[in-house]
Amino acid sequence: MVTKKKSKIPCLSLSSFLPALEAVTAAVTMPGGGAPPPGTPSSKPKEKQKSKVVVALYPFKAIESGDLSLEKGAEYEVVDDSQEHWWKVKDENGSVGYIPSNYVKEKETIGLQKYEWYVGEMSRQHAESLLKQEDKEGCFVVRNSSTKGMYTLSLYTKVIHPQTKHYHIKQKDTGEYYLSDKHCCASIPELINYHKHNSGGLCSRLKTTPCDRPPATAGLSHDKWEIDPNDLVLHEELGAGQFGVVRRGKLYGTRDAAVKMMKEGTMSEDDFIEEAKVMTKLQHDNLVQLYGVCSKRRPIYIVTEYMCNGSLFNYLRRTSPDQLGPAVLLDMCLQVCKGMAYLERHNYIHRDLAARNCLVGEANVVKVADFGLARYVLDDQYTSSGGTKFPIKWAPPEVLNYTRFSSKSDVWAFGVLMWEVFTCGKVPYGRMKNNDVVEMVQRGQVLERPKGCLIEIYNVMRACWRQSPDERPSFRALKEELSAMLRD
Ligand code: ADP
Repeated sequence: MVTKKKSKIPCLSLSSFLPALEAVTAAVTMPGGGAPPPGTPSSKPKEKQKSKVVVALYPFKAIESGDLSLEKGAEYEVVDDSQEHWWKVKDENGSVGYIPSNYVKEKETIGLQKYEWYVGEMSRQHAESLLKQEDKEGCFVVRNSSTKGMYTLSLYTKVIHPQTKHYHIKQKDTGEYYLSDKHCCASIPELINYHKHNSGGLCSRLKTTPCDRPPATAGLSHDKWEIDPNDLVLHEELGAGQFGVVRRGKLYGTRDAAVKMMKEGTMSEDDFIEEAKVMTKLQHDNLVQLYGVCSKRRPIYIVTEYMCNGSLFNYLRRTSPDQLGPAVLLDMCLQVCKGMAYLERHNYIHRDLAARNCLVGEANVVKVADFGLARYVLDDQYTSSGGTKFPIKWAPPEVLNYTRFSSKSDVWAFGVLMWEVFTCGKVPYGRMKNNDVVEMVQRGQVLERPKGCLIEIYNVMRACWRQSPDERPSFRALKEELSAMLRD
């Protein structure tokens, strides 16, 4: 085993990547990007660039100066969209300010997204979890069907016993839409409206939609990662980990957050604070959002999105496999895979992917947490592959031998995480000692198939555990494979 030497670890991070990305976006979107050099007489009068108009999908309350509040459904003119996550827009009164770009959608392409019942890409399992959690007769969503360009209505009923029914929205040659009783409508919103008043062959009338919670924003405002502790009220303890205690908090009196209070001396703080600026810009539905840090006094706080069901590991331990069912377990793995595919796309290595480092929110939403943090830990027992706290059971041969981290070492860990999910939180390699695990992995032996786990799913785990990193699939490929399995 080799002790991890900090300087040798490939530190692929977004810091170098993001400015380039933003510059490219800017070049693409700058009005008049291809203008002639100064002094060139222009033959044509300059056409006025059509301004981009967006519609707010969620309300947003401006707190920082320079931000602008959004009213759901209202329209805004985009003034500057050269940065990925925060755009400058103008409202109908002429007020200008920054808004989170994931809260709006371009008016021209908004389509069904302006309706509260439309959820876009959502798996059948997730729709079922969402409606079950709401537990209301006639609660429904419309989502993209697994057949491209088609839509599915998922409808919850409690008559006889609680269940979700899924109906394909069918289309006639004439272009009209219909559901069960062949009552045709010219558009999907009209069809939904019809079935709000007539069950028309469905198991219930369409009565209500699940509460639509706004997504997390990338940081708390445009270019803001430093949080004033006075804006933060701390509540109960959620747990304790490697770095110290984690407490629930409220930001600005409204937004739930989790606050990690970093025990002094556990991490190289200055390096981390620099990296936090980059990490707030990583944004994906399956990554726990970093809101910012309180770094002006000690202990420093790391403030993230709050996930009401705690760590995936504890969630699995509390639940029996039958309770969740194989499709939900697979969907949880797919969600982690999607978050990891985003990190992979941005050349960002997690280094400590495991069920304990993923968190569960409402309706079985799973998000990856603590990405990249491992680089800033000062404890040798954690960072050295010979240390007692090193995650040996999640590490591939090249990490054990040469501390060579990559997205492909994350893929190995993802295979172990899938194994944790399908055993509902068993400890990999049981009580085997770390040295014996290392020997076993070096010999090419892998974890056994979890009880009741389909061979196709186990084969995905095995692909993640190929000895050579190059032979392991990428997260992108895994995402396609798991999505296809879930559809089938
Ligand atoms: P560390 O990274 O310091 O080891 P963890 O991130 O594992 O600490 O957090 C310890 C515990 O705190 C977790 O097991 C979980 O129960 C709780 N926790 C951490 N982050 C959150 C969060 N964002 N939302 C809800 N609970 C959290």
